[in-house]
Formats: sequence, structure tokens, C-alpha cells
Amino acid sequence: MSRTDIQRKLRDHGVLPTAQRLEVASVLLSRPQHLSADQIIEKLQGAGSGVSKATVYNTLKLFSETGLVKEINVDAMRRFYDSTTHPHHHFYHVETGELTDIPADNISIMDLPNLPKGTEQDGVDVLIRVRNKG
Ligand SMILES: [Zn+2]
Repeated sequence: MSRTDIQRKLRDHGVLPTAQRLEVASVLLSRPQHLSADQIIEKLQGAGSGVSKATVYNTLKLFSETGLVKEINVDAMRRFYDSTTHPHHHFYHVETGELTDIPADNISIMDLPNLPKGTEQDGVDVLIRVRNKG
């Protein structure tokens, strides 16, 4: 995705494309991927960027609030940011920490419980934890 495309994408989501936000976006939105904040910080530092950790965390929060990226909480310690925002599910490899996409139509959920009174379904996210055999 070119810099112009990324700028447009940020604007489309109501995000002002500041230089620092563009740096974070160009790491995360360059291709379909799942990255933690630390992985993004590592990539930015590797590229010689001076964006602070706090800015990266704030930017990722903004990106997920505006729907630019999808947040995946594997557990209390592991949060990933997904550049693919349309509905889909994930395999999580507990040994490698790698997330892999599962297309939404590969999983059918037959028996959902009745929703709590006064609510409507906002989404169903399936995370299948896997490990190497043996
Ligand atoms: Zn994904």
C-alpha cells in the first residue's frame, strides 16, 4: 500500500494522518498481518524511527477505536493488531505465538445462546488454540 493510499485510508476512518501515525500505519497496514505493539515498535526502531512507545500505544488504540485495525486479545498478556478488519477467525499457535486467519465461512456456529435482553449481536470471534503434536 502506497503512502498516498495509507493517508486516504486514515482519512476515510476520520484519523488525521500525522507523520507519526503514518509511520505506525505503514508498518501495520502494509500487508495482511497480526502484530503486537512490541513487534511494531521493534520494526519502527529497526527502520530508524524515533516514534516513542507511548505514541505507538496511543496510535494503536486510536486505530482500533476507529476500525482501521482489529484488536485481538489472546489473553491478558497478549494483544495483537490485525490489519484485516472484515469478519474472520483465527488459529493461535500457543508455542510460536503466531496467529493465522480462518475465513469466516469456514466456521459455522449453529447453536448460539439467546442474547441478553435488549442486546443485539455485534460479532462472534473464534480463536482456536493449537500446539505441535507430540
Ligand atoms: Zn486475522
